[in-house]
Amino acid sequence: MKKNISVAIDGPSAAGKSTIAKMVAKKENFIYIDTGAMYRCVAYYCLTQKIDLNDEKAVEQAIEHIQIRLTPDNKVYLNDEDVSNQIRQDQVSLGASCVSKYQVVRSFLVDEQRKMAKAGNVILDGRDIGTVVLPDASIKIYLDATIECRARRRMLERKEKGIDLSLEETIKEIELRDWKDSTRKHSPLRCAEDAIVIDSTDLSIDEVVSRIINLVN
Ligand code: C5P
Repeated sequence: MKKNISVAIDGPSAAGKSTIAKMVAKKENFIYIDTGAMYRCVAYYCLTQKIDLNDEKAVEQAIEHIQIRLTPDNKVYLNDEDVSNQIRQDQVSLGASCVSKYQVVRSFLVDEQRKMAKAGNVILDGRDIGTVVLPDASIKIYLDATIECRARRRMLERKEKGIDLSLEETIKEIELRDWKDSTRKHSPLRCAEDAIVIDSTDLSIDEVVSRIINLVN
């Protein structure tokens, strides 16, 4: 029987992981699994239920009431409610970085991600895909770019939504999230030993996508 192909994309915040993963998925007809959206759902649920994100026990209890569904058209459902837009708010980004440090949250989501990854040819993006979720992934990519480049891309995205933030503020915010994600005790962000590093600072989205597709093929 032919083995399913799995592509793992890890890297720091705003490196373009989800944009790239979505495009590769579309071109190659792969299932895209946005693992960051799942951590965002946990944070969003806690925020809406007024659960203190720093209270590990309370967050642990909260996950018993959480069901997450990712659809082929890249919508995110939390307990059957479409939260695709709500989970992109800045407060939720920081919240996700907070709840993702709890091992109980990680185990719950990693189990779900592994189940989802069995569905066929898949591409997952996150922080621990190549190191923890799928250590045997067919292809591992570590997608990076300079902090200034990532901040500029994030600013552009925000501008399209009518939000103006200075370069300095955006850099600070991304650095804080990267620091939290790479210094936490459980599954910190790091490059898997067997990952291929792609620095996208001077590459276009299409160039990164075709590099990954070449690897897949
Ligand atoms: O990728 P995204 O920005 O949506 O991820 C939100 C947060 O979720 C990250 O900052 C990180 O704290 C957490 N995360 C994680 N492991 C993953 C994916 C995301 O810890 N595989």
